[in-house]
Amino acid sequence: MSPVAFKCRLCGKTVSNKWHHAHSHWSATVACPYCPHVYTRKDNLKYHIKAKHSISSHLISST
Ligand SMILES: [Zn+2]
Ligand SMILES: [Zn+2]
Repeated sequence: MSPVAFKCRLCGKTVSNKWHHAHSHWSATVACPYCPHVYTRKDNLKYHIKAKHSISSHLISST
């Protein structure tokens, strides 16, 4: 038995967990309010803001 693989129609990648991967497409991109950076995950943006702009994540609204 080969591991279950799923080919994403959106980007062509073959992934093992299609729901986890598809979520990266479904979730809207989040843009950094302080610079032109754009992220697909809010977690990454929070980390970026904290690291690059020295702003605590608790000040960022979590909508
Ligand atoms: Zn994809
Ligand atoms: Zn930034």
